[in-house]
Amino acid sequence: MTPPVSRQWIVAERPTGRALRDEDFRLQMTPLGRPRAGQVLVQTLYLSFDPAQKSWMENVAGYRAPTQVGDIMPGSGAGRVVLSESPDFAVGDLVAGPLGWSEYAILAAADLAKVPDGVTIPAALSVLGTTGKTAFLGLTHVGKPRAGDTLVISGAAGATGSVVGQIGKITGCRVIGIAGGPEKCAWLTDELGFDAAIDYKAEKVRSRLRELCPGGIDVFWDNVGGEILNDALARLAVGARVVICGGISRYNFDARDPSQMPPGPRNYFNVVFTGATIQGFLMNHFEADYPIAEARLLAWVRSGAIRFKEDVLTGFENAPRALMRLFEGGNFGKQLLKVGEV
Ligand code: NAP
Repeated sequence: MTPPVSRQWIVAERPTGRALRDEDFRLQMTPLGRPRAGQVLVQTLYLSFDPAQKSWMENVAGYRAPTQVGDIMPGSGAGRVVLSESPDFAVGDLVAGPLGWSEYAILAAADLAKVPDGVTIPAALSVLGTTGKTAFLGLTHVGKPRAGDTLVISGAAGATGSVVGQIGKITGCRVIGIAGGPEKCAWLTDELGFDAAIDYKAEKVRSRLRELCPGGIDVFWDNVGGEILNDALARLAVGARVVICGGISRYNFDARDPSQMPPGPRNYFNVVFTGATIQGFLMNHFEADYPIAEARLLAWVRSGAIRFKEDVLTGFENAPRALMRLFEGGNFGKQLLKVGEV
C-alpha cells in the first residue's frame, strides 16, 4: 500500500474556562510517509472519548506531555495495521492505542496492544480498556468495598460509573447511582441491578440520599464534584471512603482563575466526625495491577456478570461533536466514533 494522505483534527484553540467550541478544532489533510523500523501504519477504525481530553487541550493535566496548539488532537482509538516495520505486528492485526484524531497514524509498535481474540473493538476501548481498568483499580484500591457496604456513585450511567456499580454489586454492596434523566436511571435499576437511582436533574440529591442511605454512605465514588460531592459528604458513614475519580461539573472552569472556580465543598468537615478518607487517583497509579484488572474484567464480561453500553457516532468529521457530548450528558454509555469498517 502507498502511504495515504490522512484527514487529521488539529487543536486550534485552548478551551480554557469555557465549554468546547467548533473553532477549537481544525481539519487538515496530511500526507504520511512510510513507517520506520519499529513502527507501524494504522488505519483508524474507532476513536474513544474521555472527558480528560479537554483538560489535555488546556494543558492543565500535569500527568502527560503538554499538548500544543497545532498538534494532532490526542486521543485513544483502535484500528487495523496496514503497513508494518515491526516483528510484533502483521498487516491486518487489530490494535488499540494512542492513535490521535487521525484517519491513519504512524506509531511505535511499543505504544500499541493487540485487540484480544474474541473481543470486539467497542469492548476493548471501554469495559476492557481504560474505562474498565479505572473502575476496577479505583474501586479495589481506593474504595475498598466490603459486602454489605452502601456504595453511591455520581455519573453512574456513564462508561466508568456503570462498571463501578456492577463491580460493587458483585462485591455484595448496596449500590445507588446518581445520573441525569429518567432513562439513564431506569437502565441502572432495571438492567444493571442497581438498588436505586437518583435523577439529579429532577430530584433533590441531598434529601434522596438521606432517604436511601439511612446508615450513611460507606463508599462514595465521585465522577462529578460540585454540589453532588457536597451532598454526599453530608451523608458519610463512619470510616467512609470517598473516591475522587473525576469532577466533570468543573471541567469548563479555568482552574487558574479563583473567580471562576466554585468554592470547596461546604460539608468537608464531616470527614472529621466520621473518620472518613478522601482520596484521588489516576488509573496508572496502579499500573502494576493492569493484568489482574484485565483478567477479571474479561471474565466478568464473558460470563455476563458485567454489561456495558456503547454510544457510537459515525464519521471522522464528527470527532469534535463526540467529545462535546460528554459535557452535555449527550452520551448514554461509552462515547465512541466509528471511522472505518472492521
Ligand atoms: P462518562 O461518564 O461516560 O460521560 C460523562 C458523563 O458526565 C455525561 O454522560 C454526564 O452524565 C455527566 N456530566 C457531564 N456534565 C456534568 C455535570 N455538569 N454535572 C453532572 N454530571 C455531568 O465519561 P467517562 O469517560 O466514564 O468519565 C467519567 C469521569 O471519570 C470523568 O470525570 C473523567 O474525567 C473521570 N475519569 C478519571 C480517570 C482517572 O484515572 N482518575 C480515568 C477515566 C475517567 P449525566 O447524563 O448523568 O449528567
